[in-house]
Amino acid sequence: MFELTFLGTAAAVPAADRGLPALLVDHGPRRFLVDCGEGTQRQILASGVGFRRLDTILLTHGHADHVLGLPGLAATLAQWEATPHLTICGGPATLAVVRALLDGALHPYGDPGIEIRLQEIGPGVVWEDAELRVVAFPLQHTVADCLGFRFEDKGPKMRLDPARLDALRVPPGPMRALLAGGVGVDLPGGRRVEPEEVAAPSKPGPRVCVVGDTGPFAELVAEAAGADLLVCEATFLSGDAQRAALSGHLTAAQAAQLAVEARVEALWLTHISHRHRGPEVQAEARMVFPAARVASDFERVKVVGRKD
Ligand SMILES: [Zn+2]
Ligand SMILES: [Zn+2]
Repeated sequence: MFELTFLGTAAAVPAADRGLPALLVDHGPRRFLVDCGEGTQRQILASGVGFRRLDTILLTHGHADHVLGLPGLAATLAQWEATPHLTICGGPATLAVVRALLDGALHPYGDPGIEIRLQEIGPGVVWEDAELRVVAFPLQHTVADCLGFRFEDKGPKMRLDPARLDALRVPPGPMRALLAGGVGVDLPGGRRVEPEEVAAPSKPGPRVCVVGDTGPFAELVAEAAGADLLVCEATFLSGDAQRAALSGHLTAAQAAQLAVEARVEALWLTHISHRHRGPEVQAEARMVFPAARVASDFERVKVVGRKD
């Protein structure tokens, strides 16, 4: 199960009721911060989610509204000894901005008191353990190395199907334990049995897709396909479509169209321009995807996956 906390839902500049981009993604003991706009550390305090386990930051790109909160957050994590190290992941161009930011704001006064690891990432798997996989995918914005992120819960651990085990005459005991652990075995007669042959059907766990700053492009549909929750930028209304196209952003209608084509279960919109009001953005999106919602700062949403 995922729990998302919207820490900042504004675009480019903050509004009185919207902070700059930051989204916390919790999955069991794992915690990821996607983007870290200026003021994110204060949003974390105000939200009540706390700084614990906050040791991995995924950056969509290097624009100031998405990264200016990094030095302050890192300094606070060091001050409170919240984590011994902080890993900041982004594309090469993004990390160049981050490096300059940290060198200028954090490092001139010596050891910042926290080990900061800059991890270069690109499209593909960027983080994985037995229960969760995080996949980055390319976005098309106005700067290099823009990424979206897909969080894939791997679902329940493999269960064995007793009927299949009996049919293949796999004896009870160590062989079944090996198969349950994902290891193939050789039966006494020489027949090889792979775990997939005796696995009970299971459905994958929930998936959350986060689309950061981007203009529309066809391949995005496949990246978001089937997500239980799509978090997507919706910077402008259709009336500002030209401005959206020039600045590499989506309109609410385009974000909603992506949700329709990708057949996602739920759509939460964020990165809302100060030019537009949340209800207007939501109304435009709902003309296309009726379940669309505009996220507010500090809103939380749980994602457990589909019931079927
Ligand atoms: Zn932005
Ligand atoms: Zn941007």
